[in-house]
Amino acid sequence: SALVLATAMTACGSSEKSIDKKAKSGDTKGALIGVTMPTKSSERWIRDGNTLKADLEKLGYKVDLQYAENDIPTQVSQIENQITKGAKLLVVASIDGTALTSQLQEAHQNHIPVISYDRLIMRSPDVDYYVTFDNFKVGVEQATSLLTGLKIKNEDGSEGKAKGPFNIELFAGSPDDNNAPFFYNGAMSVLKPYIDKGTLVVKSGQTDFKTMAILRWDPATAQKRMEDILTKTYRGGAKVDGVLSPYDGLSIGILSALKSNGYGTPSQPYPVVTGQDAERASVKSILAGEQYSTIFKDVRKLADEAAKMSDAILKGGKPQVNNTTDYNNTKKVVPTQMLQPVIVNKANVQTELVQSGYYTQAQLG
Ligand code: BGC
Repeated sequence: SALVLATAMTACGSSEKSIDKKAKSGDTKGALIGVTMPTKSSERWIRDGNTLKADLEKLGYKVDLQYAENDIPTQVSQIENQITKGAKLLVVASIDGTALTSQLQEAHQNHIPVISYDRLIMRSPDVDYYVTFDNFKVGVEQATSLLTGLKIKNEDGSEGKAKGPFNIELFAGSPDDNNAPFFYNGAMSVLKPYIDKGTLVVKSGQTDFKTMAILRWDPATAQKRMEDILTKTYRGGAKVDGVLSPYDGLSIGILSALKSNGYGTPSQPYPVVTGQDAERASVKSILAGEQYSTIFKDVRKLADEAAKMSDAILKGGKPQVNNTTDYNNTKKVVPTQMLQPVIVNKANVQTELVQSGYYTQAQLG
């Protein structure tokens, strides 16, 4: 078939060559773009998908937008379908970053460029570009806000009054998401000196990534782990002072475990709990004085970058990238356009989230 022939002809061509060839053939105007997102169970991905679709449609493209409810085989078949339907470019926010190698190989054999979205697709040479936030910095900021919440540090970065020791517990994201170790390593780069000198005490003793990782970022799993820690480690009356949580959904699970163990009252307030994504329920929780902070990643901007990148590639040009060193997927360092995250707590919800139009006042009321 023509497909097999095309495959055979380009099997030894580099990815750059195959992109250029297709783009120069001039048939990408109004082309179909396949977008795959991990799940609708977290609001951020809904906003990512909707914004990216709207951006691409504005540029004249047709968009096939799919969600896989965190099921790997579903995402794999969605990508296969998009290739079959004749997509000219794929934007993929993966569930398991290591599970897409043969689909992406097929994409490249068909001259279909691939953009990795937010999460790096691992162990595949067939990833052309990456758009994301500075994931190490997300972790640094989560840990920094834990320190300011505990008053070990002041907002301006100077040393605060509190000397501790404080009991903290640590959570990490999904082990199959390449972002999760970035968040963890970023956070530990800030926390480790304080743990070493005894200002912070991880009372459960659970400090390695594997023990604290929450598969598929599942809130219920985080809630269960927090409950287990409270039962095993804090039964004797010690209190939790802080929890490093890498994602708002997990923070909600963690807070509800704390609540059912007597936290969240005037005499026993919640510990300082961090988060990520500025999801609506968590921003409301911050305003109510429950969750302490979140990391705001303006995914409207991320989607805009992905749309610009797609358009540049399909027009045969070179998309803008600002990082060519940090994101190695074990087969290649993927050229990356990287955006900056922002710490949000009660004090700057208005300026960061309302004035920027991310939420209306009414949505947070
Ligand atoms: C994203 C985070 C998100 C998490 C769970 C990560 O890959 O970078 O923004 O909180 O997945 O969806």
